[in-house]
Amino acid sequence: MSLLKIVNYPASVLLSVGKPVERFDDKLKTFVSDMFETMYEAKGVGLAAPQVAVASRIFVMDCSGGEDETQKIAAINPEIIHTEGEQTGDEGCLSFPGIYLPVTRNLRAILRARDIDGNWFELDGEELTARCVLHETDHCDGIVFLDRMTVLKREMAKRKIKQLQKTGKWE
Ligand SMILES: [Zn+2]
Repeated sequence: MSLLKIVNYPASVLLSVGKPVERFDDKLKTFVSDMFETMYEAKGVGLAAPQVAVASRIFVMDCSGGEDETQKIAAINPEIIHTEGEQTGDEGCLSFPGIYLPVTRNLRAILRARDIDGNWFELDGEELTARCVLHETDHCDGIVFLDRMTVLKREMAKRKIKQLQKTGKWE
């Protein structure tokens, strides 16, 4: 296994729509293992392929931060098939280091995706799980959490990113 390099906003790969995965082979399994390792190392709860500069519809997540094996999920070709309710809470993203701002999302979301063997599964989640699957599925569509913020919060985030870029703390 090896660590992958996480790219920061505004890398163009973060803003483009990912290609569906067609081959469920060993190469995919290795890549997904590397994504998990990279996510845990970065202390994130989710990581999508575009964040490691691969324009594919793949994400990994673990809302338990490695504490609970059953929360370890790899989603290939994800789609959100049902949403309801609303929640607002602080959100972060490994491609926006140091930025935590409120984002309003659905309270419940049902994800449909393939696992690393190509089998379809569904995940019905609320609260943090819903927030995470919505955030990561967005990455596969070239949407970043800035796009989901209010205009005011988005401007705050952009100002902070500019400051960090000036001081060389943002690549
Ligand atoms: Zn993210």
